[in-house]
Amino acid sequence: MNDLLLTFPKGGVHPPERKDLTEHSAVEPLPIPEEVEILLNQHFGAPCNPLVKKKDQVAEGDAVGEVDKGLGATIHASVTGSVKGVGLSAHPIAVKAPSILIQTDPSAEPREWQPSDWKGLSREELLRRIKNAGIVGIGGAGFPTHVKLSPPPDAKVDTLILNGAECEPYLTTDHRLMLEHAEKIVEGAKIILTVLGIKDCRIGIEANKLDAIEAMKTACGKASPNGFNVTVVPLKVKYPQGSEKQLIQSITGRRVPGFGLPFDVGVIVQNVGTTKAIHDAVVLQKPLYEKVVTVSGRGIARPANLMVRIGTRISDIASYLGGTLPGLAKVVLGGPMMGFAVSTLDIPVTKTTSGILFLTEDEIDARPYGQCIRCGWCLDACPMGLLPNEIGVYVEAGHAGDTSQFGVFECFECGCCAYACPAKRPLVQFIRLAKMKAKK
Ligand code: SF4
Ligand code: SF4
Repeated sequence: MNDLLLTFPKGGVHPPERKDLTEHSAVEPLPIPEEVEILLNQHFGAPCNPLVKKKDQVAEGDAVGEVDKGLGATIHASVTGSVKGVGLSAHPIAVKAPSILIQTDPSAEPREWQPSDWKGLSREELLRRIKNAGIVGIGGAGFPTHVKLSPPPDAKVDTLILNGAECEPYLTTDHRLMLEHAEKIVEGAKIILTVLGIKDCRIGIEANKLDAIEAMKTACGKASPNGFNVTVVPLKVKYPQGSEKQLIQSITGRRVPGFGLPFDVGVIVQNVGTTKAIHDAVVLQKPLYEKVVTVSGRGIARPANLMVRIGTRISDIASYLGGTLPGLAKVVLGGPMMGFAVSTLDIPVTKTTSGILFLTEDEIDARPYGQCIRCGWCLDACPMGLLPNEIGVYVEAGHAGDTSQFGVFECFECGCCAYACPAKRPLVQFIRLAKMKAKK
């Protein structure tokens, strides 16, 4: 059956899925921690400026950080309590970043968000609610959603794609959201279609999530059409099916040019989790201050899908799940293919944290890497048709700045090349280094 499903034509790999650890675990709310560290740069763009100072009282959902100019997204308090300080915290990628530390008030009641009818609201009002709620692409780099939903007028967008592929091993966040909130996701799709002034939406889901495919089809069938055409497209199981360019090609056959963007071929892509957040922002006027995170791997006592307040430290999550297990070798934020290893558990969850993996020695490949043997497997695996082997050789020879000829800036760091390489060469690290040096 897999061979009959839609997919992208070039490259891709089939890493072990390992989703069985959490795919049947319903999302459970993590108890609110005693304090949260809310990072001020959780999105693509400039960090927010703090709107609060030490000893201020804040309520769950209050804005606590805002960008004054340029790209960015408002950041909100994820708990009710008092501000302990504005300082620096460990950041998943940037090492240290500005943050707001909030001490939770344990006596505070959870805030209620009442639904209201959004139909009839203007495009401007819908975008204003999405912006005010601080919505960013929660499945990727955290690009501000209100900006993504405002393509240039000459872009001629005709199709919305919802990304429910979730092709990274271990991660089951989107899978659970589609099972548990299918109707809200479809409603969110209709909100986006209204903002974009178009009718067609395709929801791409890999065929290893048959129950989610059925749930989303049922939700599409229940939704009153109102002229919208929202359909589910089952996709072949192949990594990186969920990357924007590959997903667009799989579903529409359109090829986004090398340095182009989806709207260049008339498409906007939104992750299903972001779409649920858009629903909440518009229907409930609820800001994005909590999210579902898959916590998995054989190095954590109880793998789970948790609803987590943004700013919760990984160490609090690990304690709630019974702690780490002997043999733990690596902690990764995100999936094993595109995530980042971290060296401390005192890192807070951000809007873009989709998974926290506690991996044991038998789940990682720690063998030392060797010389390139010119087998070409990385070329076959690369979905972008790049030359990762040459980039690696050039970097090792001290010529990182000369690698743009091999397509280094078109690389989106999916990790297929490194996964396929029999010499275990750290091709993605070479590529990151090459990008850094070539930019300089
Ligand atoms: S990491 Fe870059 S070079 Fe390697 S397979 Fe992915 S896109 Fe190609
Ligand atoms: S897969 Fe590894 S060994 Fe083979 S050509 Fe690519 S970099 Fe060289």
